[in-house]
Amino acid sequence: REQKECPPDSELLGRNTWAFLHTMAAYYPEKPTPEQQHNMKKFIALLSMFYPCHKCASHLREDLKTNIPETCSNIKLSDWFCKLHNSVNVRLGKVEFDCSKVLERWRDGWKDGTCD
Ligand code: FAD
Repeated sequence: REQKECPPDSELLGRNTWAFLHTMAAYYPEKPTPEQQHNMKKFIALLSMFYPCHKCASHLREDLKTNIPETCSNIKLSDWFCKLHNSVNVRLGKVEFDCSKVLERWRDGWKDGTCD
C-alpha cells in the first residue's frame, strides 16, 4: 500500500536544507570565477526571500544585512555556512559545531574512517 508521507515541518525542512547547503558549499569550486561568486551571492539572497519557513527566512534576511557571504572558495563558503548555521544553533539552544570539521562532515567523511 502507498505510504502516506506528511509535509515537512520546519525541523525536517531545516535538516534537509542544511544538508544541501553544506554539501553545495563543499563542492563549490576552489577557484570560482567572478560570475560564479556573483551567482552564489545571488542564490543566498534569493534563498532568504523564498525559504519556506517564514520566521527562518526573516532571520536570515536580517543576518545577511551585516554578514556578507564569503564566496571566494569552497573552503571560505563552507566556513561561512558553518558559522551561519552555528548562529541558528545558538539561537535555538543547540550545541555549536566545530567548523574545522565541516568538510569531514559534508564531503570527505571522518578522519577515523567511520564513513569509509
Ligand atoms: P540541524 O541544525 O538541522 O543540523 C543537521 C546536521 O548538520 C547536524 O546533525 C550536524 O551534523 C550538522 N551541523 C550542525 N551544525 C552545523 C554547522 N554549524 N555547520 C555544519 N554542519 C552542522 N529553525 C528555527 O526554529 N528557527 C529559525 O530561525 C531557523 N532558521 C533556519 C535558517 C536556515 C537557513 C535553515 C536552513 C534552517 C533554519 N532553522 C530554523 C532550522 C534549524 O536550523 C534546524 O535545521 C532544525 O531545528 C533541525 O535541527 P537538528 O537538530 O535536526 O539539526
